[in-house]
Amino acid sequence: MSTGNFIKDIINEDIRTGRWYGRVATRFPPEPNGFLHIGHAKSICLNFGIAEQYSGICNLRFDDTNPVKEEQKYIDSIKEDVSWLGFDWKDREYYASDYFGRMYECAVKLIKKGKAYVDDLSQEKIKEFRGTFTEPGKKSPFRDRGTEENLELFEKMKNGEFKDGEKVLRAKIEMTSPNLNMRDPVMYRILHTAHPRTGNEWCIYPMYDFAHCLEDSIEEITHSICTLEFEDHRPLYDWFLEELGLHHPQQIEFARLNISYNVLSKRKLGLLVSEKKVEGWDDPRMPTISGLRRRGYTAASIRDFASRIGVAKANSTVDTALLEHCIREELNKTADRVFAVLDPLKIIITNYPEDKSEYFEVENNPEDSASGTRELKFGREIYIEREDFMEAPPKKFFRLAPGRESRLKSAYYIKCNEVVKDSSGSIKELRCTYDPESRGGDTPDRRKVSGTLHWICAPGAVNITVRQYDRLFTRENPDEAEDFRLCINPDSLAVNKECMAESSLKDIEPGKRVQFFRHGYYIADIKDSKKGKPVFNRIVSLKDTWAKIVKKEGS
Ligand code: ATP
Ligand code: MG
Repeated sequence: MSTGNFIKDIINEDIRTGRWYGRVATRFPPEPNGFLHIGHAKSICLNFGIAEQYSGICNLRFDDTNPVKEEQKYIDSIKEDVSWLGFDWKDREYYASDYFGRMYECAVKLIKKGKAYVDDLSQEKIKEFRGTFTEPGKKSPFRDRGTEENLELFEKMKNGEFKDGEKVLRAKIEMTSPNLNMRDPVMYRILHTAHPRTGNEWCIYPMYDFAHCLEDSIEEITHSICTLEFEDHRPLYDWFLEELGLHHPQQIEFARLNISYNVLSKRKLGLLVSEKKVEGWDDPRMPTISGLRRRGYTAASIRDFASRIGVAKANSTVDTALLEHCIREELNKTADRVFAVLDPLKIIITNYPEDKSEYFEVENNPEDSASGTRELKFGREIYIEREDFMEAPPKKFFRLAPGRESRLKSAYYIKCNEVVKDSSGSIKELRCTYDPESRGGDTPDRRKVSGTLHWICAPGAVNITVRQYDRLFTRENPDEAEDFRLCINPDSLAVNKECMAESSLKDIEPGKRVQFFRHGYYIADIKDSKKGKPVFNRIVSLKDTWAKIVKKEGS
């Protein structure tokens, strides 16, 4: 994994040559048309991280030029997510819509220079006239309108005298350019749609390619960092800013993040939400920042992930196992270990007195000496995990079975003597005896036993709901499927309401993360968990496939 950063090399060189007088100004420019995802997190960490490192500034700029798709709720969620990730834009919260007046003036200036014209061609015709990679484009019959006529028509467009789609303003560049973005791109379109911020003030809106470079220029951005697909747009940005004689940031492209078994596109994620394939933008299976937060990821683990993947010039796909590795590594150090039995099987310890109970002191987290200890209750009736017992065990099963002895973690050795079944033949409970000599989990003779099991004392156990999450997609690259929705994993969520946990979890604070011993890391859900009625989300299992991959590669 490379953390080398060619972007920093460029900035270092600019500082050395005094290109921007040592100034570093970046921005994170989301379009408020959906919730942010982990790909945006990469861009946020990069832009704010660079500003931090070079004592520069990073603006939060909403690129709100398309009122048809943009909403206030997305603006609010974006602000919440950027803050939660740990970044502060201070008072630099900007909106492209605040510059609509200046953008309009720039368009007028280009018309006056003979560099822009009003076109009456329909959207379909413009597309047809544009040509292809192999065929040059054709000039519009309206291309050679006089300046006065263009100015008059553009003003009428602004004043609402035409219907949507009736006219557009285009840059007059070169219809035969090998770069399709240079073939007289549309700068303004008519949209009789109210804007969340400017209301009905405008009925013409600038296109992304015209607006974006002006936004960067107006804010005096020095390094405009964007994803690779904008490399072919750079000549157009250069053209606009040069023709207008404006401040001209350096655009630097990097590869966008892709993660296996995920889709990272607001549009696609929005479809999962609107078609109710998931419970919302913050569904814990979603790769959105809000989904990851609800799933139990910490901001630090996401920042760690962003720094490990680094930035590159070539597109690639990152293994989801790396993201999981980052949170697992953190939680291994910080999460208390607790006992929870997900599929309870009752055990009666026949030689343990009926009226007796006792407590064992157990460590909260062996990885953290400051985490302290707690008392675990033990008595005659306990639960173990159903899968920790087999009536007719195969060779490699090293847990409890008839006639066998197993260790109850931190408590006693028990031996299974009898299997009690119900009328349908399924196992109802086990009858075991314990060895009083093994108190604390070991005997003086330290004899070998069949596995170490977690357990819960039945009286005082808390009923909990546990949601096991799996990958949302069955295919490594759902974008390659004919329709990404066809490879949604039908088993991405399993809810179990019959789980039992130790009494310390009864009043767990929503948002707190723990390790269920032998199972994985879990969080008490921020929305659904209540004191007395805990609901847990599985963040990640204990098995670290990433560590295995790295070990195998010997890196
Ligand atoms: P989406 O396709 O998900 O809507 P977008 O690029 O259209 O993404 P914007 O709101 O325009 O979304 O993105 C804001 C910033 O986040 C842009 O600078 C963009 O380059 C960056 N970004 C978006 N997706 C990724 C990604 N997968 N990896 C890295 N950066 C990304
Ligand atoms: Mg976009």
